[in-house]
Amino acid sequence: MTIETSPDGHSSIGPISMSTMTEFLKGMPKCELNVHLEGTMESSHIKIFAVRNGLAFPDIFQPSGLRYKDFRGPQDFLNVYQNALSVIRTGDDFKDLLIDYLRKAQSMRVLYVEFYFEPQVHLERGVSLDMILKGLKEGFEAMRNENIKAQMVLCFLSDRPVQEADDILTMLLKDENKALVVGIGLNNNGNDQLPFKFRRIFERARAAGLKTSMHCDIDMENSVDFLRLALLSMRVDRIDGGTDILDQESLLQEALTRDMGFTCCPISKSYLRGNCVQPEQIMFLLDQGVKVSIHSDDPGFMVANLVDNLDVMEKKTGMVKKEAVKFQENAILTSWAPDDLKLGMLNSLYEHFKSQGGNLGDLDGDEERDHEFP
Ligand SMILES: [Zn+2]
Repeated sequence: MTIETSPDGHSSIGPISMSTMTEFLKGMPKCELNVHLEGTMESSHIKIFAVRNGLAFPDIFQPSGLRYKDFRGPQDFLNVYQNALSVIRTGDDFKDLLIDYLRKAQSMRVLYVEFYFEPQVHLERGVSLDMILKGLKEGFEAMRNENIKAQMVLCFLSDRPVQEADDILTMLLKDENKALVVGIGLNNNGNDQLPFKFRRIFERARAAGLKTSMHCDIDMENSVDFLRLALLSMRVDRIDGGTDILDQESLLQEALTRDMGFTCCPISKSYLRGNCVQPEQIMFLLDQGVKVSIHSDDPGFMVANLVDNLDVMEKKTGMVKKEAVKFQENAILTSWAPDDLKLGMLNSLYEHFKSQGGNLGDLDGDEERDHEFP
């Protein structure tokens, strides 16, 4: 796969080319930590949900067809995203999204998924948290005996009121919901205000045993301020994106000391931020020993899955197999899966590497750092 930039600076993805590396990546056991359940929605879901919920097709179908992949920056993506999401009305819609994505992920040898879901997006249409959780529980029940495991992470939106987030957290912490959700996150939705006000929500969630994460967008004027907030003030367990940490040595050292995970999605960033150098930044962070990993973000909207995102890393940075394995090892180690599941996934990953001629010793130590500072 190649990323090309059109004259307006907007990136597009060319045809996927098959290679030995692609086959290696397809067969590699994988772990997905930054995928938004609503972002897995494909055009077929929009049609089905619109019909069964008695709604007109959303504007993105008219007049010139579906506008997936045709974004002109973050705000345009949000407009298309929210337009598409308007057809979600019932718990069954969430159940179907969950089952369909897990089946697809299973066919790509994904062993474990942590899904973000964003209840606040749906409240105005009368879709309550109870409806969503009921649908998700049914989806998990249907997939109980499959060879893929998943947990949910409730993602708050920083442009919504704190009180709303607090009320949602109260519902989430009820005994009957605790088993479903492993953590909370915060998505900034293109908002450049620093979300200090969510600190007490995060403290409350942490005190109740939930893990925490925060999306730190890249290439913004205050990217480093967001990272400082996430690392030092909110003290989150994991950061989504955040590769601009390379701009601030003291924060980079803090992340290294705390073994902080960074979940990165190179294809969505290339769509939304033009011809950015994030793949090079991700690879440089890996060289520095940061627990950075590769994910797919909104695979339905980007029409690009986890393997496609790993493929981009090969095309843009020359990623070799041991580096692909390191990304997955980092994903497993910084996941919020139970320890026995982590151990099983690590064993499967190492078996795959060895079966493809890899040497486990190459994964450790201070082997030469090949990648230039981007
Ligand atoms: Zn994300």
